[in-house]
Amino acid sequence: MAGSAPPLRVLHVTAELYPWVKSGGLGDVAAALPPALAELGIDVRLLLPGFAGFLDAFHGITDTARLRTPFCPERVRVGLARVLGLECAAYLVDQPTFYDRPGNPYAGPDGRDWPDNHRRFGLFAWIAAELARGADPAWAPDIVHIHDWHAGLTPAYLAARPPPDPVRTVCTIHNLAYQGLFPAVLFPELALPAPFFAMDGVEFNGQVSFLKAGLFYGDRLTTVSPTYAREIQTPAFGCGLDGLLRSRAAELTGILNGVDPRVWDPRRDRVLPRCYGPEDVQSGKRAAQTELRRRLGLDDRPEVPLFGVVSRLTPQKGLDLLLPCLPAIVAEGGRVAILGSGDSDLEQGFARAAAAYDGRIAVEIGYDEALSHLIVAGADSVLVPSRFEPCGLTQLYALRYGTLPVVRRVGGLSDTVVDATAVSLAEDSATGFAFDGDGPQDLMSAIRRAGDLFREPALWQRMMRSAMAQDFSWAAAARQYAAVYHELCPDLSAQSLARSR
Ligand code: ADP
Repeated sequence: MAGSAPPLRVLHVTAELYPWVKSGGLGDVAAALPPALAELGIDVRLLLPGFAGFLDAFHGITDTARLRTPFCPERVRVGLARVLGLECAAYLVDQPTFYDRPGNPYAGPDGRDWPDNHRRFGLFAWIAAELARGADPAWAPDIVHIHDWHAGLTPAYLAARPPPDPVRTVCTIHNLAYQGLFPAVLFPELALPAPFFAMDGVEFNGQVSFLKAGLFYGDRLTTVSPTYAREIQTPAFGCGLDGLLRSRAAELTGILNGVDPRVWDPRRDRVLPRCYGPEDVQSGKRAAQTELRRRLGLDDRPEVPLFGVVSRLTPQKGLDLLLPCLPAIVAEGGRVAILGSGDSDLEQGFARAAAAYDGRIAVEIGYDEALSHLIVAGADSVLVPSRFEPCGLTQLYALRYGTLPVVRRVGGLSDTVVDATAVSLAEDSATGFAFDGDGPQDLMSAIRRAGDLFREPALWQRMMRSAMAQDFSWAAAARQYAAVYHELCPDLSAQSLARSR
């Protein structure tokens, strides 16, 4: 009887979870997707590394298991916590010697990766596989859904020692450029059978690749936009894994990320001086812009376009293209507000520009959630000139706040921003400005197009309304993930989905 059958159980294995531990979009996805899946009647739990950011925040962590592992002599405690604000429970790999360290999840305060990351994330994946094998007598997953290289070894451990009841795996690529590569000499420390270090296995150009393990042994693969799913099957975007991905094309699906309205919604964003919706977008954005200009020391000229950037400063994000454009933007009357951190060359270049163009270019180096909301709301346009972009969240947030993105036509940027052309403007479908090419002049011509349209307020306002009307909901994404689960476990998910209707 469908009503008494257990729901489909899915364990999400993720190293990041907003707001506690986040270095990029993965943290946002891990916080938003599980509740959206729970809405569909799926029984979701998370597995997280025991970073201090989690252990300090979660209360009432109970003992689920103490497991022997090949990674340390002592037993490893697996805790279980209810996470406030997230409608699902989270397991934690509570091994302080591995995870209770300063810095970000992957690197120390000096920015260098921890030398034992293979063991830190090997243990993490090992515990995921143990949970799949029934380490928690009260709950075992039907599907283990791993995210990025950090969890990549999980399907390899399951292939090496299959659980008594079959467990299927889904591997989601949030960014193919981060692969978790380690020297071959470390392979014996991972407790995988020797034959797994092979081309048909975890070996990649003579090294161990955690991500490749997930892509090779995972039952289904997903990535975070349909265009990126196609791009990564080509040499230009495949980071050397395009051949493997082409061979798995039938099992690879692109599913666009959504926007979490609990965090990003101009109608109830507490950071803003005045909340707004499409009906009062102009006055709401004006208030945000006044506050932003005051906060960053930009001159008060609402009649000129203000371009915003919120980004990691890495080669991926293409912001080296922006640096040489700054004089022209200022000369043509534009203003720029930049929030980011990363490459020191870029940090210094932007800081120099801010000093040279006081009041016209403002730069904050660092990570600042509140300021990121103020920029997304207060800027007229955000710049996302990424060289590649699996999905991109900044442009999604910007669209929702009526802030028109200037993007390079790649990956998720291409799937989510409709370029302003004569046709799209006439059809009222235009939501931003897209460019091809990889030179500063290509970015500058898109910025100029944005500046020209900004000076036609009626057209700009129609575009703002079209942008705000876009629906990037997690419910839509969750339905597509549920369809992937359904293909893997047809009987179980049919029961879950039937109950949720
Ligand atoms: P990626 O995951 O490649 O960094 P995404 O666009 O998918 O890029 O996600 C980036 C996320 O990180 C967004 O939520 C963005 O607002 C946030 N972000 C990036 N840099 C900063 C920063 N310096 N301060 C605050 N938030 C930032």
